[in-house]
Amino acid sequence: MPVTAIVGANWGDEGKGKLTDALAGSSNYVVRFQGGGNAGHTIINEYGKIALHLLPSGVCSPGTVNVIGPGVAFDIGDFFAELDDLLGKGVPAPDIRLSERAQLVLPVHRLFDGLEEERLGERQFGSTKKGIAPFYADKYLKLGVQVADLYDDDRLLERVKAALASKNVLLRHLYGKPEADAEALAAELRRNRERLKPFVCNTTELLQEAWRRGESILVEGQLGALRDPDHGIYPYSTSSSTLAGFAAVGAGLPPYAISRVIAVTKAYSSCVGTGPFVTELHGAEAEELRKRGGSAGEYGVTTGRPRRVGWFDAVATRYGCMVQGATEVALTNLDVLGYLDEIPICTGYRDASGTVTTEFPVNRLLESAQPVYETMPGWRTAIDDVRLFDKLPAEAQAYVLRLEGLIGVPVRQISVGPHREQLFER
Ligand code: GDP
Repeated sequence: MPVTAIVGANWGDEGKGKLTDALAGSSNYVVRFQGGGNAGHTIINEYGKIALHLLPSGVCSPGTVNVIGPGVAFDIGDFFAELDDLLGKGVPAPDIRLSERAQLVLPVHRLFDGLEEERLGERQFGSTKKGIAPFYADKYLKLGVQVADLYDDDRLLERVKAALASKNVLLRHLYGKPEADAEALAAELRRNRERLKPFVCNTTELLQEAWRRGESILVEGQLGALRDPDHGIYPYSTSSSTLAGFAAVGAGLPPYAISRVIAVTKAYSSCVGTGPFVTELHGAEAEELRKRGGSAGEYGVTTGRPRRVGWFDAVATRYGCMVQGATEVALTNLDVLGYLDEIPICTGYRDASGTVTTEFPVNRLLESAQPVYETMPGWRTAIDDVRLFDKLPAEAQAYVLRLEGLIGVPVRQISVGPHREQLFER
């Protein structure tokens, strides 16, 4: 059975969690392959509204195995806080497996995240301060601590000392802060290791075997294509690859196993954090869309920050779907646009010389790009009860078909509300 990837076509917050939650019931495995607790998925189901950060979105589906793969930035404290919160909401204890090769986000990574944003001042990246950038920096500097290291005291101390050596120089001389103590940090990491142990295993063998047996596997991305460090709006990107292509690496599956790539996009645009955002709205128009968007307005799940909102950007979405290798698109939040008489769609970017392009440019040019809009008639009615494409108002059908034509990838799923059942196939 092919592995399905659910990934973001844009800047994140496209509604991937809702789609994964909806599809998880028919999946044997749901796998996180990158990122950490620095973004959030919102899912709404029989247990209420649940914000997930580090846990895979299959945790509410009994019988689904939830895998945290080697590519994830794993924070022990966040993991247990999120798990306890979930259990507190009445969700039965989910089946979770954590890769022994995943690496640990250390308290010192969080500290550095905050200190670095403070040092950058106005030039800061709008980090969620979860330690993700310092974590991945250490991983590629070969200074990371793997989950397996928790169970070998000497090795753990040795790894922690290696991680702290250069950081202590920076703490003292760049940031003017006290040094971190290796023994104390190792002791802190050891504190929850016994509780963690039952979750830890070789998830690569587990998934490869499941795949060979033909079981159904969903890999879920965090954030979106435009936050990818190689293909996104660098340096306003995240620190791990958000692309379906990386899912094979971060989960531990053969690259050719992932043959269905669902790129999730909203029917308008939203973006948390800094960086160029060509169709961004401001003032009353933005406030109206922000208030109506998502399940409770467009405010970040992890940070609570108001999300930047704008009209649908076909240039960015076509590009996002291309770099994801999307085989289909899931369009979410179509219901949100029901208040508009007319709906603008950005079909091209105009550069400083007046030339219009449909190609997504590098950041240097993106920052001065101006949106070129066309306008479609709105449908001015609620569509959250609709479950068939043909039952959508003609204007809503035309809007979807126009987006599909511009993106160049078939829109197969349409979401008309935040609840699990407010979703249909076309
Ligand atoms: P993710 O990180 O891609 O999973 O996205 P988030 O959960 O951060 O943001 C998506 C927001 O849209 C959440 O508030 C969801 O509850 C909400 N949502 C998802 N699909 C729909 C939809 O079709 N309509 C509405 N109104 N809200 C939706």
